[in-house]
Amino acid sequence: MAIQDTARMVSERIETTEINPYEMMLQQLDLVREYTDISDGIWQILRTPERTLEVSVPIVRDDGSIEVFTGYRVQHSSARGPCKGGIRFHPGVTADEVKALAGWMTWKCAVVNIPYGGGKGGISCEPSRFTISELERLTRRYTAMIYPLIGARRDIPAPDVNTNAQIMNWIVDTAQLLSGESTPGIVTGKSIEMGGALGRHEATGRGVMFTTLSVLQRLGMDAEGASVAVQGFGNVGSIAARLLREAGAKIVAISDVSGAFHCPTGFNIDQVLEYVKVSPGHLLAGLPHGGMEEISSDALLTLDVDVLIPAALEAQITARNADAIRARVIVEGANGPTTPEADLILGEKGTVIVPDILANAGGVICSYFEWVQNIQCFPWEEEETNQRLGKIMQRALREVWRLAEERQISLRLAAFILGVERVATAVQLRGVFP
Ligand code: GLU
Repeated sequence: MAIQDTARMVSERIETTEINPYEMMLQQLDLVREYTDISDGIWQILRTPERTLEVSVPIVRDDGSIEVFTGYRVQHSSARGPCKGGIRFHPGVTADEVKALAGWMTWKCAVVNIPYGGGKGGISCEPSRFTISELERLTRRYTAMIYPLIGARRDIPAPDVNTNAQIMNWIVDTAQLLSGESTPGIVTGKSIEMGGALGRHEATGRGVMFTTLSVLQRLGMDAEGASVAVQGFGNVGSIAARLLREAGAKIVAISDVSGAFHCPTGFNIDQVLEYVKVSPGHLLAGLPHGGMEEISSDALLTLDVDVLIPAALEAQITARNADAIRARVIVEGANGPTTPEADLILGEKGTVIVPDILANAGGVICSYFEWVQNIQCFPWEEEETNQRLGKIMQRALREVWRLAEERQISLRLAAFILGVERVATAVQLRGVFP
């Protein structure tokens, strides 16, 4: 059976029921198989996370009642270095979602060639329901529960959806209280005053901007005036939008959980950022901006734009809406926003997709810089971080682009081949203990 038929068959099964991100990740991985000569045994190792920890996280609410949440930490691979990956607080967090995200971290760190494996964590909860002190107790209790697994040389958490520098500060402080040692390198994405790296906050969005500009250039498209739609206005989407606008692009659509908005003449992103700083829940709803209309979130994805940046959650571009997508280029700011089925439909239409494991790697690359600075106790200037970030992203993009051209395959497949082969080589060289 042709590889496309297998993919279609499997994804039809997935998409007619609910999309399971872990099955999605495995399906992407399995598509790589026939392009490599990785043995069956190594393949089995790559398909299975090394460790999955499920924890119960009880907290005392401000009213004195107790509520229990479920949390996870998954270590997908430590073959190329300590496990690395963020922590997500979201109602959609499940064991399978965290396993998928941990796997994507493994391929991401390998494709940009930084010395890490992949991990991920999360708590299934709606963080907007918590007061700041409840959020602190939740974070500290979760840290205590995953403490046996994490460490600067074992597994290093970082921010992800709905987590930020303050949450990372509580994690490092809790770890320090438990161990009695100062180990800032146990977590990245901290505040600068706590050993965070200058530039880390913007790094994922900056990486998305680098890749977008570089891909537009390779395709012979002008960044000046290029129309861009951004789904998700969190850390990744908002910063990518700001930097792309500074680079001359026109941000014609933005969205978050409170709604999607279209402004054909282009948003003044600085003005939008000022608004969300003070708006209820830091959301876009109620945004006062001339020439703008509210649209549905599906309408945002299918706008006639040069670049679409999905920067929200998994499985947003699916078999259901892929046909209607008109963007020439998709740059995946989120992890896993496109299902394998949608990938095929878009590939047939000639849409260029810059895959998540390449496009959004800026965050983890800068986390790597933060970790190096923590270990060496030697902070860098922001300029150095941004320069090195650009270098690593350009190198990875060049390698992926070249492989895609040589083999006449998609950028996603090329990125997966590069990443997976690097991990497979490390697994092979280590051998199987005992
Ligand atoms: N959560 C981010 C990601 O998905 C950053 C991970 C990190 O810095 O370790 O890539």
